[in-house]
Amino acid sequence: MSRIAYVAGQYLPHRQAAVHIEDRGFQFADGVYEVISVVGGRLVDAERHLQRLNRSLGELRIPAPLGDAALGIVLREVIRRNGVDTGIVYLQVTRGAAPREHAFPKAAKPTLVVTSRRSRPPDPRLGDDGIAVITIPDIRWQRCDIKSIALIANVLGKQAAREASAYEAWQVDRNGEITEGTSTNAWIVTEEGAVVTRAADTAILNGVTRLAIFDIIGREGYRLVERPFTVAEAKAAREAFLTSTTADLLPVVHIDGVPVGEGRPGPLALKLRAAYFAHAASAA
Ligand code: PLP
Repeated sequence: MSRIAYVAGQYLPHRQAAVHIEDRGFQFADGVYEVISVVGGRLVDAERHLQRLNRSLGELRIPAPLGDAALGIVLREVIRRNGVDTGIVYLQVTRGAAPREHAFPKAAKPTLVVTSRRSRPPDPRLGDDGIAVITIPDIRWQRCDIKSIALIANVLGKQAAREASAYEAWQVDRNGEITEGTSTNAWIVTEEGAVVTRAADTAILNGVTRLAIFDIIGREGYRLVERPFTVAEAKAAREAFLTSTTADLLPVVHIDGVPVGEGRPGPLALKLRAAYFAHAASAA
């Protein structure tokens, strides 16, 4: 079955799907995106993703190409046409095509591209055994709250993690505090049992998975603290974990080769992981 994309108003096989060579996404990374999980053919936390998309678009003054209801129809249609039961849907909006000039073009129409693909959930062994992260300097811009397609720093960071046989790289700001992973949010559990993650300032992306974990923490009566934490604090933490749409929740058992806690997934991380799966399965 050939994969079908939605590109500027049409559903097309990938081979025929194309955007203009002067699209500002291609030339300036002038655009935003979302990745939404599909579980049982349904979108997980679609409303929060669309809210964040609209926020990102607003911050960059890119007009929304479609209203939420119409966009929801397109997302579901792309999922359907690709026969995706478990996987992801990817959507990207750019400021559109225009002769190359940095300032906003007067008359460009935003480009919307939607693709979807099946994917197995991450290998369960990653959840059972936990994963390793390395730490790297955060070299990104100062508006990481916008889900911008300008991801080169994230790409380099993830590649550094791969080359170090780690799953993720946690980025560290000038104060020695961890901001987030290259495509995940970062969390620790303190000796007192508080679950700590950085507040959603402009240094991190406010993950939709992060917010779902907040809901679970609230419901289960655990203690949540939104504050930055240092690399040293993370290495000395009782537990650590990361979250994202594609990773779900994965326990972190090594940071720069240093075992976290006993070097095994912590009980709280595993409970939150199970609760998150239940949440995703009950989606929409
Ligand atoms: N932080 C960054 C930099 C990301 O790219 C992502 C996801 O792509 C996340 C955090 C996690 O966000 P979400 O839970 O919405 O997938």
